[in-house]
Amino acid sequence: MAAKPLATHQMASDKGTGVYDVARYEDGFTCSCKSFEYRQAPCKHIKRIANAHGIPDPKAHLESQSEGGTDGTQANAKAAPDAS
Ligand SMILES: [Zn+2]
Repeated sequence: MAAKPLATHQMASDKGTGVYDVARYEDGFTCSCKSFEYRQAPCKHIKRIANAHGIPDPKAHLESQSEGGTDGTQANAKAAPDAS
């Protein structure tokens, strides 16, 4: 379940070949560019948006940390009612 962004902005890429989506969350920003995906750290698009909002030191909002999740923890609690 991903958090809803407080706001979203579109930034044209420097080369003019596309548009990146910068989303602002309560705890930080995300960007759809490769740089952000790779580094998971505020990219120049995020910094540009953040600066426009008077945020000098933007943070990255990381939401998809589901790798190595806790699947199955609830399955054990549900014992079979009729195991015989
Ligand atoms: Zn970016």
